[in-house]
Amino acid sequence: MSRKLIIGNWKMHGRLARNAELIDALRAGLAACEAEVGVAVPTAYLSQASHALAGSTIALSAQDASRFADDGAYTGETSANMLADLGVSYVLLGHSERRQYFQEDNAVLREKIEAVLKAGLKPVLCIGETLAEREAGEHLLVTEGQLEVLKALELGDECIVAYEPVWAIGTGKVASIEQVAQMHAHLKQKLLPIVGCSVNIRVLYGGSVKSDNASAILATPNVDGALVGGASLDAESFKKICQAA
Ligand code: 13P
Repeated sequence: MSRKLIIGNWKMHGRLARNAELIDALRAGLAACEAEVGVAVPTAYLSQASHALAGSTIALSAQDASRFADDGAYTGETSANMLADLGVSYVLLGHSERRQYFQEDNAVLREKIEAVLKAGLKPVLCIGETLAEREAGEHLLVTEGQLEVLKALELGDECIVAYEPVWAIGTGKVASIEQVAQMHAHLKQKLLPIVGCSVNIRVLYGGSVKSDNASAILATPNVDGALVGGASLDAESFKKICQAA
């Protein structure tokens, strides 16, 4: 069994001074942590975070990457090669906020995943159903459709998916242990034929993970880690979540 992976997604939060403080506190508190830990930092601060994390065990993650694999005339974009140059290891792709506000669908995400893989980075594909889809009983089908984007790809040795039910993101409404267990088992079962048995599959849970619910979530079968939003901006909370893994 591989170690649990805990990634803190800062989303569009941060300032130079606050980031430096947060990273210092995490470096000091997580040096002996058993879990693999990463922070997904806004693009503007990746360079700062990369320097601040140098020599630590905490991995640097980006929150998105351009769908254009090669550098070129794409104003405003950040290529996966640039992310690699900055010392990024993981790239979140398809977060529900990207799907909602930037109309990212499977076609765009496919290009992004390919670009990230080509640059030698690890994509973390974020998936999850909305409340309306859950209430209509479509959650298994919807997430299954979101996994299709991984078909026939050279993923390397690892495939990381983050299940984040949209209704649990930033709402304080965490999915029940039964809901998490059912979905994670379902996703693992669907991923196996898509990626093949030589690829290590890790399915993370995200959505209102806090220091007081992390142990139960991380102890659920088929939960291989967590993608943490709000609680990752507070050093003490994030450390507790990482230590619960
Ligand atoms: P919260 O932990 O704030 O609910 O956010 C989850 C998330 O979207 C992580 O990517």
